[in-house]
Amino acid sequence: MGQRRLATPQKDDANKRPQSKKSNNAVLNSTTTRKGEVFRAQRRTSENVNLRASQHLIDIPVNKSVYNGYGGEQFSAKMQPKPVRGGQPKLRIIPIGGVGEMGIGKNMNAIEYDDEIIIVDMGFLFPGSDYPGINYITPDITWLEENKHKIKAHVFTHGHLDHIGSFRHFIHRIPAPVYGSKFTIGMLDRTMDDSEVDFKPDYRVMDPLSHEIVQVSKHFSVELVRVNHSIPDSTAVIIRTPMGVIVDSGDWRFEESPVDGQKFDLERLTEVASKEGILMFMNESTNCESAGTHTHTEFDIQYSIGQVMDKFSNSRVILSCFSSQVHRLQLILEEAHKHGRKVAFAGFSMIQNLEVALRSGTIKIPKDTIMKMEDIVKLPDNQIAVVCTGSQGEFNAVLNRMATGAHKYMKIKGSDVVVFSSNPIPGNEKSVVRTVDGLMREGSDVIQNGKTHLTGVGPLHLSGHGYYDDHVKLINALNPTYYMPIHGEFHMLVHNARLAEKRMRNSS
Ligand SMILES: [Zn+2]
Ligand SMILES: [Zn+2]
Repeated sequence: MGQRRLATPQKDDANKRPQSKKSNNAVLNSTTTRKGEVFRAQRRTSENVNLRASQHLIDIPVNKSVYNGYGGEQFSAKMQPKPVRGGQPKLRIIPIGGVGEMGIGKNMNAIEYDDEIIIVDMGFLFPGSDYPGINYITPDITWLEENKHKIKAHVFTHGHLDHIGSFRHFIHRIPAPVYGSKFTIGMLDRTMDDSEVDFKPDYRVMDPLSHEIVQVSKHFSVELVRVNHSIPDSTAVIIRTPMGVIVDSGDWRFEESPVDGQKFDLERLTEVASKEGILMFMNESTNCESAGTHTHTEFDIQYSIGQVMDKFSNSRVILSCFSSQVHRLQLILEEAHKHGRKVAFAGFSMIQNLEVALRSGTIKIPKDTIMKMEDIVKLPDNQIAVVCTGSQGEFNAVLNRMATGAHKYMKIKGSDVVVFSSNPIPGNEKSVVRTVDGLMREGSDVIQNGKTHLTGVGPLHLSGHGYYDDHVKLINALNPTYYMPIHGEFHMLVHNARLAEKRMRNSS
């Protein structure tokens, strides 16, 4: 009788595993996949792609959106324009991210003419609770990497993370000189501290006030124009091309009395529009759905903060706002100084941004107004103001740590008052409520913008983006031949396009 042989499992010998090239992706490196599975997956993908690609040929409706480039008509192969060989080079604007995303972020646009490309902004997107475990999402730059020999310049409009967040991941992969205003370059350089590669970007600081025009390549020149926004030194970008002038608005609002005295340079834009004409205006869409215009200023917010300090004159005042809103930090410092309070700043990004602001001369700190968090125990409550991160209810930020009693230097007590000098970004509402409830359970008073009537103080926040009427005013001033809504979710882009169409109909 034959003996049944049982297979003995082989020991795993690392030396006998097929040696594959290590990628720099830690997850892929620790995963093994059998060859057959890979081939099957590839075949499935290509079948799927072929199926989709052929849908228009067999008249299955594909993309009949009015924005499909064919006016909502069902595309058929006959409609595809024939490529012209040897013709004039074309000017192309290619959104790499930020146009019609879920949420506002990963703003990045490429402008191509002939053998040259320049890139405006490199943001990332906070995905919120839709992608558990994901901190942020960057745009896909495969096409740019394939064409990196063409890239002549990177231009940055301002230092918010939805415009600069991907910089440290991308700049060494698609290197070119980096242009921006002084504070913006400071913010970019700060993000490089967290970079995993040792790469020194080639920074070129530009001055928007002198209307300096820099020829960045054979075909393109760049000029920065001052706009107002919720971070210092924000700019729009004028890009002169062989086909005409392109303006990228950056993020903007109009301010009658900006904190640093530098108003939106509408004069310069109007001058360029009348002398050279604007071929294309790429305009941000964030608040174009909000009616009217802003009814208060940053100084009104300063006044409201003063009201809180008066009303709660024996309390510690804890203020939370976006850490990049350096001008508001300036106003808080001044108001605290007036009320005989010292200010302690808390939170990683708050301290880092302050450092950039101090180095670039963007913030001026009144004498003897600053103290360390660890020293707040040494002063009476009525001489303390704390400015901290966490206005969006971020789990690990200072405010939430205070709310859960986990902060190292500060325990909330019944006499404290916490001010939210911000609005929850859509998607963050629940986290904000969790923080507010936590703080109130600890016993403090909480004053949120939008609910200030409960305490009888004025407004505590101002959005960094213009409203409907502001957009109409800016489009009128620029009078562009072509208009492209950028920086927004799809519904915002649609409303921005309609707004511009209406304006253009009214003016013609
Ligand atoms: Zn911004
Ligand atoms: Zn933005």
